Amino acid sequence: MPAPLSGLLTSVRAAVRAACALCIAVGDPERLEKQGREPVTLADYGSQAILLRAAALGFPEDRVVAEEGSAQLFAAAGADGIAEIADLVGAALGEQCTSDDVVGWIDREGGTGSRTWAVDPIDGTKGFLRGDQFAVAVGILDDGVPVAGVLGCPRFDAGGSTGVVLWGGPSIGVFAEPLAGGSASRVAVSEVTEPEATRVLGSVEAAHGDPALVREVIDRARLGGGWVRIDSQVKYAAVAAGMAEVYLRPRSREDWRERIWDHAAGVAIVEGAGGRVTDLDGKPLDFTFGPTLAQNRGVLVTNGRVHDLVLEALRVG
Ligand code: AMP
Ligand code: MG
Repeated sequence: MPAPLSGLLTSVRAAVRAACALCIAVGDPERLEKQGREPVTLADYGSQAILLRAAALGFPEDRVVAEEGSAQLFAAAGADGIAEIADLVGAALGEQCTSDDVVGWIDREGGTGSRTWAVDPIDGTKGFLRGDQFAVAVGILDDGVPVAGVLGCPRFDAGGSTGVVLWGGPSIGVFAEPLAGGSASRVAVSEVTEPEATRVLGSVEAAHGDPALVREVIDRARLGGGWVRIDSQVKYAAVAAGMAEVYLRPRSREDWRERIWDHAAGVAIVEGAGGRVTDLDGKPLDFTFGPTLAQNRGVLVTNGRVHDLVLEALRVG
């Protein structure tokens, strides 16, 4: 792999592992409300502090775009909550840190280099709160192109044991390693081409997409492998690991724009595993428009082999 990416990925993987350890340590998280009524937990902020600390210490030139900010944290958790996060972060890193450290890391925007970290500290917070799937996600964009990603999936079993880290990208390939420790093995998308064997993934939360349209596309394209609903970018991980062929994410409403931290890591990983990602019109996702995919309508992730037949079924409607 290109030398700069290799060192970067080593650091990001270590940070993602520590962030996953923090999420697991929190156990039974309390639900806090963010503006816009999306849930958040102390673990979201703790995870973001760990991930952005790695950017600050190792890659000061890199820009950072991350889901959470400390203004909401003060409103939702107060000084006591921040002190609690500092304890959690310190325990996960094995070193002391203060509330000021944590707030500084959470709000980091980074330098002016060509690389951007697109960070979702807990993707699928609703799944995390339900005891279902969630992912710690870091996507690396270079001039807006997803070149690498790391997905920590503490409750996902990609064919080994529960708890896995997937990492890699288009010029690297993709590897899965147990969160508990152990060697990495290469993963690849499935070779399925037949509609009748094609397995589909979608969101658990109906409000995050359009389940009726997913059902219609399955019927129109005669996709016969089943439709499983799981939270977060674990869906990208499952396609990359050959456990499903399609992840279809129609827009939840006309004015919804997908956020880059919900996709950057997943796109790098699926493309690196041999798959394909576009929007529902077949256009590549454009990560050059700030924090949202402003130019794209929905997201279609596949093993590549069944991509066109799903696009065709979307066009017919
Ligand atoms: P998933 O678990 O795949 O449904 O995706 C979780 C992500 O959905 C969260 O990280 C949010 O950023 C995102 N999200 C929240 N509200 C919406 C919405 N109305 N439409 C689409 N995505 C949303
Ligand atoms: Mg998210």
